[in-house]
Amino acid sequence: MSDPLLSEEERMLQRTVREFADRELVPRARELDEAERFPWENLKGLASLGLMGLTVDPRYGGSGGGYRELAIATEEVARGCAGTSVCFIAHLSLGTSTIARFGTEGQKERFLPPLARGEELCAWALTEPGNGSDAAALQCTATPRGGRYLLNGAKTFITNGDLANTVVVFATQDPSLRHRGVGVFVVEKGSPGFTANPQHGKMGMRASSTAELVFDDCPVPAENRLGAEGEGFRIAMQVLDSSRIIIAAQSVGIGQAAFEAAVRYSQQRVTFGKPLAEHQAIQFMIADMATQLDAARLLVRRAATLKDQDLPHGQESAMAKLFASEAAHFACDRALQVHGGYGYFKESPVERHYRDQRVVEIYEGSSEVQRIVIARGVLKAMPV
Ligand SMILES: Cc1cc2nc3c(=O)[nH]c(=O)nc-3n(C[C@H](O)[C@H](O)[C@H](O)COP(=O)(O)OP(=O)(O)OC[C@H]3O[C@@H](n4cnc5c(N)ncnc54)[C@H](O)[C@@H]3O)c2cc1C
Repeated sequence: MSDPLLSEEERMLQRTVREFADRELVPRARELDEAERFPWENLKGLASLGLMGLTVDPRYGGSGGGYRELAIATEEVARGCAGTSVCFIAHLSLGTSTIARFGTEGQKERFLPPLARGEELCAWALTEPGNGSDAAALQCTATPRGGRYLLNGAKTFITNGDLANTVVVFATQDPSLRHRGVGVFVVEKGSPGFTANPQHGKMGMRASSTAELVFDDCPVPAENRLGAEGEGFRIAMQVLDSSRIIIAAQSVGIGQAAFEAAVRYSQQRVTFGKPLAEHQAIQFMIADMATQLDAARLLVRRAATLKDQDLPHGQESAMAKLFASEAAHFACDRALQVHGGYGYFKESPVERHYRDQRVVEIYEGSSEVQRIVIARGVLKAMPV
């Protein structure tokens, strides 16, 4: 698996996280899924490797590094336990990185160290019961009142929402202003008027916790606003542009886990007098899975490299997310097919990979939303 296109440091990071995932994440993944149990011990392990603060400046307790490193680490975490990878991504590439990128010096000094060291957990709340893809339609309000804001409204499907100490919340001064009215606020756990209710019954990613958040005249100090008034929507879109690279890496990791299970199974299971792997129809599935996952990995790496070089990467991250999430869908589907009836039962890891994979085509912008972003970019680049 040694990849000559990675630097020596990147290869070392990949090796370290893969060994950790094989040792710590893989053995627990099935039980966490079945019990719908939050993976605290896994996140603690990631923190001990410095991963919970990857990309965050060491001045604020982080480990530094860029999105190439974060993508490499995320792929390995997702290959080991997809549910753990969602908690990790919501904490780091959504929540913590919004503060790291858009916070003032004072805000970064105040909020980042416990998050970057993995002592506390972060969440990022944009989606509401009435709007997900159309984020500018958000209804949660932030009304300025005497040096603070009063938050009112609800958020839904928020990963880590009930467990995070720090929640980055998007709210508007006036819903009729759409994207121009949105601000972004750091809300601390225990704030009056803030409640979080876990949402149970997910198809996959069951080790992660997802919550509805309710704000009822919740006071937020003005110094907890990130960026200027009305800048929240732009901040959300910029964070999504980079975090989608990490969802794409997560997708590759889930697909890779399913692919490896399929290859192993095809070498053991005998039909018509020879291992499945010797039937050409099965070999073709293996070839297609391998090719799609590798192509996805290259798209992830291109988008991450652009991001690390401060070059425009919105279009490239949308392509990476779209392609990688669909490549993971294909890999999980084919892997289940290779397993036959055994793949349909919980004893087989591919049953879980198949369920875990499905949401990567939905969150942080569904496949339809990615196609809208990509088509808009293509049409803008080629005016009539
Ligand atoms: C497990 C999980 C974790 C999540 N974690 C978070 C989180 O941490 N923070 C957060 O803010 N959100 C989170 N989300 C929410 C997620 O980002 C949204 O579910 C997603 O953006 C889609 O929004 P929606 O569910 O409201 O679907 P809708 O926007 O209602 O869309 C429904 C369907 O219609 C399609 N569609 C919508 N508009 C168009 C259009 N113009 N053209 C074509 N098709 C269209 C969509 O692609 C989708 O297939 C999470 C969701 C899940 C399931």
